[in-house]
Amino acid sequence: MTEDAFVAGRKAHLINKLRVVKESLARDLPRDHAIWKTRILIPMIKAAIDRIKNGTYGRCMACDEPIEKRRLILRPEVICCATCQTEFEGNLRSSASA
Ligand SMILES: [Zn+2]
Repeated sequence: MTEDAFVAGRKAHLINKLRVVKESLARDLPRDHAIWKTRILIPMIKAAIDRIKNGTYGRCMACDEPIEKRRLILRPEVICCATCQTEFEGNLRSSASA
């Protein structure tokens, strides 16, 4: 698969995911779940679509290295690579226990 075909596939997935998430908001959900979708998930999906438009999709926002394709397939809206994500979560854990 070419890089362009891969990104096009992720874009189609993101647009579909955005629609599914928006539709799910209309159903009865635990309130905190709906807030998470509205404030975090939907903006992340929209930002990912914007990054496809400006050609920066698939690059880690923290270290600028390519994000692992496996990650982009599982969660096309991710903004950083596995290494930075692990580091970020480690920082959260250490600041929570401090
Ligand atoms: Zn990174």
